[in-house]
Amino acid sequence: MPLALAAMAILALVTLGYAGVCAASPFGTCRRCNGLGFALTTDRRGKPCRPCRGHGKRIRVGRWLYNRTTRLHHEGTHAPAPAHSKEARPWP
Ligand SMILES: [Zn+2]
Repeated sequence: MPLALAAMAILALVTLGYAGVCAASPFGTCRRCNGLGFALTTDRRGKPCRPCRGHGKRIRVGRWLYNRTTRLHHEGTHAPAPAHSKEARPWP
């Protein structure tokens, strides 16, 4: 039983640590181009890196999940703006 408790504590610490990293630094260095923004090739075509679109940064998976869930929650709980009819508009 202490082994299971230790495993749960370690998993909780790792999860909280990753959440802290995602909150403090939501963007990480692109894995494909190592932050250069373009792929090093020998033919000098100079194409921008596709995963980061030439920025050299990528959004972390945890931050992407956080953004997606908060957007989903916002869209699910907030009422859409009322559709304005011609009579309700303050302008002609
Ligand atoms: Zn890249």
